[in-house]
Amino acid sequence: MRTPFVAANWKMNKTLPEALDFLQTIAGKLPAEDDVEALICAQSLFLSQMMALTPDEPLKIGAENVFWQDQGAFTGETSPKAVASLGVDYVIIGHSERRKYFRETDEMVNNKVQAVLRNGMRPIICVDETMGQRESNEKVHWVVSQVIEALKGVAIEDAHKITIAYEPSWAIGAAAASAKQAEDGCYLIRQTVADMLSDEAADQVRVLYGGSVKPTNQAELMAMPNIDGVLVGDASLDPDIFLQLVNYQ
Ligand code: PGA
Repeated sequence: MRTPFVAANWKMNKTLPEALDFLQTIAGKLPAEDDVEALICAQSLFLSQMMALTPDEPLKIGAENVFWQDQGAFTGETSPKAVASLGVDYVIIGHSERRKYFRETDEMVNNKVQAVLRNGMRPIICVDETMGQRESNEKVHWVVSQVIEALKGVAIEDAHKITIAYEPSWAIGAAAASAKQAEDGCYLIRQTVADMLSDEAADQVRVLYGGSVKPTNQAELMAMPNIDGVLVGDASLDPDIFLQLVNYQ
């Protein structure tokens, strides 16, 4: 059984005091880890202090991006080895904003997935789809090809470490996909993993939906057979709403 997963993506929001205040507000109010896995992905410069403040909370802290080389002469980049040394578990890779504003290609995404795994962390791989691609009926090809490219070279034994988030860019910060649209995308992702790796691997991979998730649409989304959880941007910035999201059951 895959543990339900509620992952916050704070993006480039909050100052360090705001991030720490948030953690103080939610302390002691999170569900048990076996019921729901709760994660907050934040700017890398906050991670160590966020982790230091929550050692006993059933909460994981994740990064929003890393570089694909472990270390070296790459001024301004974030080393996956350094992030792993903080004890970080998860790293978001290939978010649509990185693909769009920082020109991340499928090849870069794949290199970063390998770097995350090599350093003992778990990637949350985002795959994207624009409304144009959806309406032009190229959705299948587009989502499938991003999954195939992202997972190139990933060993079957690492399948349980992989999370893939279906995040259609037309639904981010806008109107959410319907539960049926989201399930269709997540089903397609799981089928692609089954074809590429194995049925068992596809059973282990967690697939999330992301794009305008709120407490009001979360339960319907998470009731879908192929949706194991949600990746939440805007709504996760408010501690009370985050608590509603992780305590949805
Ligand atoms: P949103 O963002 O929840 O604000 O739509 C989701 C995401 O970009 O991961």
